[in-house]
Amino acid sequence: MRVGSGYDIHRLIQGRKLVLGGVIIPFEKGLLGHSDADVVLHAVCDALLGAAGLGDIGQHFPDTEPRFKGISSMELLARTFQLIGDKGFCVNNVDATILAEAPRLDPHRSAMQANIAGVLKLEPGDVNIKATTMEGLGAIGKVEAIAAMCVVTLREKY
Ligand code: MG
Repeated sequence: MRVGSGYDIHRLIQGRKLVLGGVIIPFEKGLLGHSDADVVLHAVCDALLGAAGLGDIGQHFPDTEPRFKGISSMELLARTFQLIGDKGFCVNNVDATILAEAPRLDPHRSAMQANIAGVLKLEPGDVNIKATTMEGLGAIGKVEAIAAMCVVTLREKY
């Protein structure tokens, strides 16, 4: 059994789509980034890479590379799953926490679970998504950013 953790934060700005866990969420702002800036999937990717001893998302998918511009993070997650699979690992479970003051994420939780479980070949019950606010504190509390944390466990495939 191997454990990995991931963390990511992106700035919220006007004029971008908000994508979390591969779900487009109606909101007045979206996350700024080179890709679709899906902090949830970025935290999941980093946790997976960490557990497999494969470094971090920035090493594999640098934000200086034009080919990753605007890329769906669902694609980054699929490529990350391929990398850990090539190293002989499969995923046991995923537990992610989203830190967002707004919007309400509860209605989108099961769609995020299904997206992540689908890519990682898990049952939705093996992917837990939690959400919390920052009680108005700091940049996240002022709706200037959204962050996500994730822990995963991997096991050897055979
Ligand atoms: Mg990121």
